[in-house]
Amino acid sequence: MKTFKIAVIAGDGIGPEVIDEGIKVLNKTAELDSGFRFDFTYFPWGCEFYAKHGKMMDDNGIEQLKEFDAIYLGAVGFPGVPDHVSLWELLLKIRKSFDQYVNIRPIKLLKGAHLPLVDVNREDINMLFIRENSEGEYAGAGDWLFKGQENEVVLQNSVFSRKGTERIIRYAFETAKREGRSLTSISKANALNYSMVFWDQVFEEVSRDYPEVETASYLVDAAAMLMIKDPKRFEVVVTSNLFGDILTDLGAALAGGIGLAAGANINPERHYPSMFEPIHGSAPDIAGQGLANPLASIWSASQMLDFFGCEDYGKTVLNAIEQLLLEQQVLTPDMGGTASTAEVGDRVVEIVASLA
Ligand code: ATP
Ligand code: MG
Repeated sequence: MKTFKIAVIAGDGIGPEVIDEGIKVLNKTAELDSGFRFDFTYFPWGCEFYAKHGKMMDDNGIEQLKEFDAIYLGAVGFPGVPDHVSLWELLLKIRKSFDQYVNIRPIKLLKGAHLPLVDVNREDINMLFIRENSEGEYAGAGDWLFKGQENEVVLQNSVFSRKGTERIIRYAFETAKREGRSLTSISKANALNYSMVFWDQVFEEVSRDYPEVETASYLVDAAAMLMIKDPKRFEVVVTSNLFGDILTDLGAALAGGIGLAAGANINPERHYPSMFEPIHGSAPDIAGQGLANPLASIWSASQMLDFFGCEDYGKTVLNAIEQLLLEQQVLTPDMGGTASTAEVGDRVVEIVASLA
């Protein structure tokens, strides 16, 4: 029997509440299949840890995580700890240390989920965003000159390496080819006259290796508009770190809300653990009250199952979420229901058992 070793960083706010439900669902799939099991190890890292120790994780935290098959992350961030500290010292540190250069965010409107638009067919919202996750606008490079003086100047550099740009675009082409879908590149070469000109050039070069994949290319501003006006244009989408960050939040709103949006941070070569997380934050306003919607975290658990090669169960979990939405019986308040976080998790577990 295969044992998948999972490092759990439940984190802050609603993180631990939603992660508990994802773990229930994962354990149910393992119970239904004699071929695999999960071994969860909990790490108490996050903002509470920061309050006690002055750091977000152990000094050798990355070393400790290395031996795991995957990381399951809730959310980090809490009032009192500056966002850039919690982000850079935990989330981005893990993404960078483990070269998780692919961020996969499905923007798929499940049956039963709320469609916020008129004049758009619900089936048309079915995109797979592949966001560059290791460099670009979030490379962390810059300078702050003449700080505090009248002539101060701040520089925030983007970094687009040949290697980094080519590998994400190639990954996106491979995905589009495998799924038999078109690939859209989103950039901004008219204004960003170095980075995005280069991006477009690499996209064009790599496309020659994939003549069977239909391609399109949009400026990011036009893409933002078209995602609302004509979402069916977008199937597999590849874009830079910043644009992907922004557009996938827009996508989350299109696909039923932030409570449903999942994300995977993948190291495709599997040299290091990949990380699965709901894309929402710690939501301090609703923490500790059983109000949080666990579906995003459960969806990311389904991505983890896919990643482990247990696609049948990944699909079952996603189908269970869809059935729960169609039933409209057991939903958290953000989706118009009155159920608690745990009640939603329990119902997903029941449906998974009934579908398997
Ligand atoms: P952080 O600083 O960690 O990013 P945040 O409050 O700035 O946290 P989010 O946590 O993404 O940002 O949440 C924004 C709002 O969306 C929250 O205040 C909350 O009301 C709502 N929200 C986010 N996630 C969920 C969820 N899983 N279930 C219900 N509501 C949610
Ligand atoms: Mg936030």
